[in-house]
Amino acid sequence: MGETTRRIRDAGGRAEIIKTDGPKLLALGDGYLDLDLSRFPDVVRGVGDDLAIADGQDLNDLCLSVNAFLVETPDRLCLIDAGDGARRAPSLGHLEKALKSAGYDRADITDLFMTHLHGDHAAGLVQDGARLFENAQLFVSEEEHRYWNAPEEHDAIQATQAPFALAALEAYRERITLIKPGQNLVEGVEAVGLPGHTPGQVGFRIGNELPVLVSADAIHLPALQIKHPEWGFLFDADRSKALKTRLGLLDAVVETNIRLAGAHIPFPGVIKVVRNNENIGYETIRD
Ligand SMILES: [Zn+2]
Repeated sequence: MGETTRRIRDAGGRAEIIKTDGPKLLALGDGYLDLDLSRFPDVVRGVGDDLAIADGQDLNDLCLSVNAFLVETPDRLCLIDAGDGARRAPSLGHLEKALKSAGYDRADITDLFMTHLHGDHAAGLVQDGARLFENAQLFVSEEEHRYWNAPEEHDAIQATQAPFALAALEAYRERITLIKPGQNLVEGVEAVGLPGHTPGQVGFRIGNELPVLVSADAIHLPALQIKHPEWGFLFDADRSKALKTRLGLLDAVVETNIRLAGAHIPFPGVIKVVRNNENIGYETIRD
């Protein structure tokens, strides 16, 4: 097993601090998702295998981190995404343990900032129809909320995710705030539009001079998709829009001090995209 694969499989229940100049930010490990390569239908074997191996991973034994992030301000405790819940334990469902290891309980969360409402981000919000975060408000983009209430727009793949989205929207229905890209949610946290993976997907930019952009599912597997952004993910609702967003994101962050965090970037889920001449790559950030 490669070193990165080992780190991904070992992340459930862990919490790590990510440096920013804004609010305190932590990565929380919900666990990992075993995948087969059919989830990346465009990958060219050989080229992809070499990139994975160079990154300490193996396309024949592929797994993705499932991370959430915690933002602490003086008076708010904001969770970005809520993991997969208990349905696929033991590989997933360790968010509560990660929160506890950071010194918190679910009841301490005041705000839930959702990047989008696929199951691996939203199933952890609810158990048996009841809210798991009893004191929290749910922040969802207006477009994401509209999309999941429009079943005629879901293809067969997105339809598999609709029950998770709708269960979350139902359980928190009295506590939902609809947001738009560009909006500041709390001091130092801004929503950023990243449409494609889902129509209403947003990321969250945290900090100013040393910012981290929690980029949701714009990139699933940096080992492949930084060099080959055209290798889309099967669960991208609109693969061409997802590609455009991915390219725009890489352009926006390369050669800047913006670090990219993501729900599926190997735990603790933060990279810095770098370009040497025409060669684009990334560095893993571990503070
Ligand atoms: Zn995801």
